[in-house]
Amino acid sequence: MSNTQQLVILGATGSIGLNTLDVVARNSQLFSVFALAAGQNAKKMAELCIAHQPRYAVMASPSAAQQLSAHLANTDCKTQVMHGEHAMSELCAHADVDAVMSAIVGAAGLLPTLSAVEAGKKVLLANKESLVMSGQLFIDKVKQHNATLLPIDSEHNAIFQCLPPALQHAQNNQQLHRHGVSKILLTGSGGPFLNRDIDTLKDVTISEAVAHPNWSMGQKISVDSATMMNKGLEFIEAKWLFNCDADDIDVVIHPQSIIHSMVQYHDGSILAQMGNPDMRTPIAHALAYPERINAGVKALNFSDIVDFSFTKPDFNRYPNLQLAIAACRAGQGATTTVNAANEVAVNAFLNAQIGFTDIHKINAQTLDAANYSNVQSLDEILECDRLARLSAAQFITKVTQ
Ligand code: NAD
Ligand code: MG
Repeated sequence: MSNTQQLVILGATGSIGLNTLDVVARNSQLFSVFALAAGQNAKKMAELCIAHQPRYAVMASPSAAQQLSAHLANTDCKTQVMHGEHAMSELCAHADVDAVMSAIVGAAGLLPTLSAVEAGKKVLLANKESLVMSGQLFIDKVKQHNATLLPIDSEHNAIFQCLPPALQHAQNNQQLHRHGVSKILLTGSGGPFLNRDIDTLKDVTISEAVAHPNWSMGQKISVDSATMMNKGLEFIEAKWLFNCDADDIDVVIHPQSIIHSMVQYHDGSILAQMGNPDMRTPIAHALAYPERINAGVKALNFSDIVDFSFTKPDFNRYPNLQLAIAACRAGQGATTTVNAANEVAVNAFLNAQIGFTDIHKINAQTLDAANYSNVQSLDEILECDRLARLSAAQFITKVTQ
């Protein structure tokens, strides 16, 4: 019997998945890979199976699973290959599993992540979209099943580290103000177009949009960072993770991405978490919490920092940020809708169907047209998500005509 923590890594072939495996490999006395799951990249998954020898590997489709089996056929890798969302959900709830890294991109991560929550696992949440999509239901399930929810998003992980322990978990039902907290300061770099002439944003190319100045990430979150929809989704994520209101959160632009977010207290203190922009820090923090382990990240050298600046976000430049904050105030149906519309719009941008500034147009039109009076149960959330995707696709057809 090993007493290492058994992990499931959802989204193993992606940016967060690979960074997680890097931290795990540096700390193999503490962690074992029980299962890996990913979408379509069978070749990469085969490499990961050979390197990490998980008990199971799950691909999203039967064809990708077949390819994976073919890649592993003439190796000594004994990993059992499976496919589909149901298999991912089952493995997340497996009795031998201690923790689940939720790092599938987009709404596809929701059901496997909820399965881990319902099984009372330690859930390391990178997939912010699942929380934005299902907010109250997600948090209620965390409480009901006594799951442990730890944020991987660098800002939320920073906020978590700066909060008093009694406030670190939304499931505690604690109020920020009663514990001396006056504000959460959510920082964001402003992405690649912080200083670009606003009139030229309509001409932004795909390669310009995915080239983030400080972070190396998957394509969808890179585009979300360029529009600052990412900060909008993070605003909603913070509301749920830290049991607070929209009025308790301010967004601050900090182009250097050294401070990863801050917490302001009633006595005038502001606590910040800092470090080089490398996702292995929040991943290592959450994996080992409450201990600290080696993440392979170089310590910050203050004498290397030439500039350290802060500004307010300009909603003319970042209308998606304003839209997401408005959706946060409007409630669950609005956040589910905006998340779904954005996923469809970003995908259309990445497929060269629409322009960069059309992403906001599609998101705003979908939100305006939506009728989402009662969105609480999982069925209502999934239906709201489905209708928003249909509606966004129709608005995209109009843009492309
Ligand atoms: P990525 O595109 O690099 O990786 C996505 C992963 O999800 C891949 O392994 C892909 O195969 C898998 N996937 C896609 N569709 C799937 C499906 N239907 N079923 C199973 N797996 C599927 O993305 P990423 O940058 O690693 O981001 C992953 C999540 O983490 C996102 O929700 C993102 O917002 C969040 N996040 C990422 C970063 C970062 O630095 N990359 C930071 C904070 C939060
Ligand atoms: Mg983030």
